[in-house]
Amino acid sequence: MEILHHGAVGGVTGSCHELRVDERDAVLIDCGLFQGAENSGKGANAVDLAIEFSIEHVRALVVTHVHIDHVGRIPYLLAAGFTGSIYCSQPSARLLPVVLEDALKVGVTRNKRLIERVMRRLQQIIRPVDYGVWQTIDVRGATPLVVQFRRAGHILGSAWVDFRCGAGEDERHVIFSGDLGATETPLLLPPDQPESCDMLVLESTYGDRNHEGRARRQAALEDIIRHALKDAGTVLIPAFSIGRTQELLYELEDILYRNRGKSAADDLPWDDLEIVLDSPLAARFTDLYRALRPYWDDEARTRIAQGRHPLNFDQLTTIDGHEDHLRVVRYLAKTGRPAVVLAAGGMCAGGRVVNYLKALLGDARNDILFVGYQAQGTPGRDIQRYGPTGGYVGLDGERFDIRARVHTIAGYSAHADQSGLIDFVRNMTTRPQRIRLVHGEPAASAVLAQKLRAYVAATEVAGQHAGPDIAPDA
Ligand SMILES: [Zn+2]
Repeated sequence: MEILHHGAVGGVTGSCHELRVDERDAVLIDCGLFQGAENSGKGANAVDLAIEFSIEHVRALVVTHVHIDHVGRIPYLLAAGFTGSIYCSQPSARLLPVVLEDALKVGVTRNKRLIERVMRRLQQIIRPVDYGVWQTIDVRGATPLVVQFRRAGHILGSAWVDFRCGAGEDERHVIFSGDLGATETPLLLPPDQPESCDMLVLESTYGDRNHEGRARRQAALEDIIRHALKDAGTVLIPAFSIGRTQELLYELEDILYRNRGKSAADDLPWDDLEIVLDSPLAARFTDLYRALRPYWDDEARTRIAQGRHPLNFDQLTTIDGHEDHLRVVRYLAKTGRPAVVLAAGGMCAGGRVVNYLKALLGDARNDILFVGYQAQGTPGRDIQRYGPTGGYVGLDGERFDIRARVHTIAGYSAHADQSGLIDFVRNMTTRPQRIRLVHGEPAASAVLAQKLRAYVAATEVAGQHAGPDIAPDA
């Protein structure tokens, strides 16, 4: 048995791992897009996404969750001749086609017939699996393989995946964490705790820091909005379509609910504050999130029982058409009317947020609020870095001075923090012999590796590596 990494090594995007069970069979765990300057180290990057490794022996793809950096290369996998099944959780099976259809339209082709063909093919091979049920994967060789999906608390449908490989004394037990969520992520049940495994492939995105608790985070959000609105202007939140956007809407609804009848700033009652969601894709996912209510946590379901609409409240306006989008951008830039705008995409590298940035960055009344990870080489990272010192950012080849204030709320990340990652390992009854860290920048990964070595001394911890794949031999 061997584990190879085709992405998310030395960075956080392009997740793609291969569990090779013997000479004849393997499965892939995720198949994601690279973003910004990150690459596979073997030729694939954000521009050239063609599959550059052999897939002859790959029998199935197991999807941990539907974020684009975990599933965005699936069309390329199909193009490379992949003939296996795609296994994922029930909610992921609902979300995945929407993610991929959009990825195709944006990144690959406008050819409707081609898109339809890919989508039909996808529908034929997606196999939803309930949480906590063992699923057999068809193999050609002599090593049996089963997989189980367990809740990861990261986005709706997210899972860590548990493989049993081989039989009897030779059985190996391998867990891939995917992206792990925080224990108190709005809307979602907390991550399940694994009991044991031989080998753990663990994400390390926030391996070097701890998040603020949810209550403090929501208070920070409320505070930033309150201050930002004092001088009017827009609070612009670059939004990731799936997960964070719905979490944010959920928290915003709660802020508005708790502040009914009060004022956010002079002449501005909270009741009049408009929340604008300008991302057709995020709006579609918000609809799907609503439809997948049975997977929500108790708090969210209690709010519904109270007659509240956590993802569909009165003060929320959804923008659909491109003309309407442009009209809103112009209107807000001209009037400085207070509003909170969530616009696609999260790292400012494309999407409707770019038009907002161009129109709003130069005006000190406006505020940009980052709620998610900004990869190296993205405009989001530059705004975060150079904005506070009055720098500039390049958008579509043009230079834009940053006069708007820039804020970051680190905890709104839907990723487990350092203590969450450590607890995931420490709370196992039987801890793994080996841990391989992936999905983190080298610095974050190194800090986590050091901590893990201190806390779980009997476990061998391998950090990120940029060199050739290493057989873990476990
Ligand atoms: Zn994710």
